[in-house]
Amino acid sequence: MKRPYRLFDVTLLHSARLSPSLCRFTFGGADVVNMRTCAPDQRIKVFFPDAAGKPPSLSPDTWLADYQAMRSADRPPRRTYTIRGLRSSDCEVDIDFVLHGSTGPASRWALSAVPGDKLQIVAPDATYAGDPGGYEWRPPAQLDRLLLLADETALPAVAGILEDLACTARPPTTLVHLEVPTVGDCLALPTWPSLRLHWAVREGSPCAVGDFLIDAARTAEAIPSVRTSSAGASLADVDVDRTILWETQAPPQDGGFYAWVAAEAGAVKNIRRLLLEERGLPRSATNLMGYWRLGQVRD
Ligand SMILES: Cc1cc2nc3c(=O)[nH]c(=O)nc-3n(C[C@H](O)[C@H](O)[C@H](O)COP(=O)(O)OP(=O)(O)OC[C@H]3O[C@@H](n4cnc5c(N)ncnc54)[C@H](O)[C@@H]3O)c2cc1C
Repeated sequence: MKRPYRLFDVTLLHSARLSPSLCRFTFGGADVVNMRTCAPDQRIKVFFPDAAGKPPSLSPDTWLADYQAMRSADRPPRRTYTIRGLRSSDCEVDIDFVLHGSTGPASRWALSAVPGDKLQIVAPDATYAGDPGGYEWRPPAQLDRLLLLADETALPAVAGILEDLACTARPPTTLVHLEVPTVGDCLALPTWPSLRLHWAVREGSPCAVGDFLIDAARTAEAIPSVRTSSAGASLADVDVDRTILWETQAPPQDGGFYAWVAAEAGAVKNIRRLLLEERGLPRSATNLMGYWRLGQVRD
């Protein structure tokens, strides 16, 4: 039976520094011709070299069972990333990495990567006929107003979302708040007359990770006044140190408004309360995703 995902052997072809904190890595591999991406936030799993520097070497045929059978100490480190660009006919895939130091296997690899490095990626299989999932950007067919809140780890997805929308006949009225480490990380992004884009830079400010996004959720005047009956209703707590904050919705039927929020999980927890509880945004149109957790390792 066909599986929606498969394991791809890839080799680093080249890299390009996009900004002080972001680097684009372009990988190649004969099998990438069979890789598929369904949305600008298509997530994939990347396997990295182990602590001794040994590249991952799972078998493309039996990787899942083999991985599950391994002792956790023997498993190759695995992290979640976004397909930033896929040129399957050229057998090339781009992934933008945040360079946040050498504290984790992914960022450590990114800091010292050289062409020829071998990694493995689990990604959708183009030969699978159904919807493989692994993406949350599912706006309504009739999208009028859009809110995007993201930090640097979700900047690759946001850039792809804006690129897609910029090509549509009538892009929605859009409010974007992006928080990044340094002023050099404010990349050029597509724009249109009804788009308002705000960058916030942490460097040189006393603010903690996510504070600017929390503030935007609290104060942004352009958040639509679509208060629902859930406004003011209290939300169940989410313990972001024990679980992954991931509250995503099917495409809203009623159209109109859509919100896509991805950032550090503690920040998203606060944003969730502000947007749903205080500002009464419709839960059915609000995707809230903790992309990483400060101080924790998330595999
Ligand atoms: C759906 C999804 C898509 C994602 N797409 C991307 C992407 O395209 N590009 C990208 O760079 N990241 C992306 N991420 C985030 C990425 O998975 C995490 O940042 C991951 O923790 C990085 O692994 P690591 O090995 O570098 O650090 P880990 O071993 O996971 O963590 C080590 C330490 O580093 C800290 N840390 C982790 N990430 C960061 C960070 N960004 N800044 C500062 N400290 C950090 C942790 O809190 C921990 O203390 C995505 C996450 C999800 C869930």
